[in-house]
Amino acid sequence: MTDRRAPSADPVDASTLIDLTESHVARGYHPLPVVLREGSGAWVTDVEGNRYLDCLAGYSALNFGHGHPDLLAAAHEQLDRLTLTSRAFYSEQLALFGAELADLTGKDMVLPMNSGAEGVETAIKVSRKWGYEVKGVPEPEASIVVMDGNFHGRTTTIVSFSTDDVARSGYAPFTPGFRLAKYGSISAVDELIDDTTVAVLFEPIQGEGGVIIPPDGYLRELRELCTSRGVLMVADEIQSGLARSGRTFACDHEDVVPDIYILGKALGGGILPVSAIAADEDVLGVITPGSHGSTFGGNPLAAAVGRAVISLLRTGVFQQRATELGQRLEEGLRGLVGHGLVAVRARGLWAGLDIDPTLMSGREMCEGLLRRGLLAKDTHGSTIRLAPPLVVTEKEIDLIVDSVADVLRERTSA
Ligand SMILES: *Cc1c(COP(=O)(O)O)cnc(C)c1O
Repeated sequence: MTDRRAPSADPVDASTLIDLTESHVARGYHPLPVVLREGSGAWVTDVEGNRYLDCLAGYSALNFGHGHPDLLAAAHEQLDRLTLTSRAFYSEQLALFGAELADLTGKDMVLPMNSGAEGVETAIKVSRKWGYEVKGVPEPEASIVVMDGNFHGRTTTIVSFSTDDVARSGYAPFTPGFRLAKYGSISAVDELIDDTTVAVLFEPIQGEGGVIIPPDGYLRELRELCTSRGVLMVADEIQSGLARSGRTFACDHEDVVPDIYILGKALGGGILPVSAIAADEDVLGVITPGSHGSTFGGNPLAAAVGRAVISLLRTGVFQQRATELGQRLEEGLRGLVGHGLVAVRARGLWAGLDIDPTLMSGREMCEGLLRRGLLAKDTHGSTIRLAPPLVVTEKEIDLIVDSVADVLRERTSA
């Protein structure tokens, strides 16, 4: 037996790997200068053997950490059995995944896709079709209310209603049919709804926006508004869902059940892309053979990993860890407000930090954290997001707080 982990050729050094990436992979990201090779739990190791605490967790795709044994076991087992069938045939794993995800969300049905953006696209298509066939909106008049500061992915239709100029610029013409409301304002949504409106699409917490938490009662009022005006409430829980916020879904914080959940990221356990929408039969029933699909959506490998994710969520352990460790993180970070931090927003193990912009940018904070062995990512300007895997320990939470404090102190005392 040869060692499966042994590199096939001489290892290539970090700066060469960075050059190769910058010359041969489109530069849609601005990565920190660290080249990773391995990961385990909350920690990753670079090609030089340095270890880092992962405080981004793949934008919450890695809620259960790197290489969670249950998830790896499910993947390995299914990898050897059956990986792809297409939807031309039934598969054992998809049947069980569908039933278990429907049960987790409390909905009748699910529609599995791959990336998060595909999940959002699916929710948009289903909302429009529901609008025409069930609500009776004349085609092609359907409108969907969306929020400023949103992030729902990168397809042409989705960037059509982004308020981020960099994400949109150069990609026109855009898809019509979207109306922008101010995030957190119920009256703004109310004013935009008319007879053509089929859905309100929102994030219960805006992740890419910088962990923006809407005012208390907002989700409940939005639920009431959607019900009374006969429009679908569509919650993009791709980043906020699956235990990150301390509950299975961020909507749970206000005991709100949307008409459509959009899930992704952690649904694939950090192993492969798995997304899905979940809704009741009166909504998802509009999908008929040929009207929507995906070659890889709901494939047996993805379904097996998704089922293992659902089993982990069923224990409630990760939701509880997010709540308890999140409190510790929030308390620690609050102590830094006025000492280089302007504001801290946190829910569960998920924090947005606004750094005093006269002190440093978010990027500079992340570079400072990198030097101390922590990986984090700025969202924009002087805002960074901290979202470590939910398997971190209390000591590691303290390390995060101490490291942020150190980086700030370096500048405040300079
Ligand atoms: C990441 C994200 C998406 C897009 O998911 P991809 O898998 O990158 O396509 C959509 N919505 C939200 C809220 C996200 O955080």
